[in-house]
Amino acid sequence: MSETRPCRRCGAPLLFATTGEISPKTGKPVIVPLDARKHPIYRVVGEKDGATVIARVEAMVSHFATCPDADVFSGSKKIAAKGGA
Ligand SMILES: [Zn+2]
Repeated sequence: MSETRPCRRCGAPLLFATTGEISPKTGKPVIVPLDARKHPIYRVVGEKDGATVIARVEAMVSHFATCPDADVFSGSKKIAAKGGA
């Protein structure tokens, strides 16, 4: 795995990675800041005796979903809408 860097706001370890998708805005690969800590996610794999059966895996998730200061990174419009300057 590549080297991680701490989030400038909360200090969580981040891995900057790409899916290979090209941004239509910039024409460059989309870079996603991943929270490098492992998070449990669940996938439905079937049913058994009337219950949904899931599989649990550990995965990285977008840091936009885990950062307590995500609004700061997603643009000042949200902050302004909350009553900021
Ligand atoms: Zn953060």
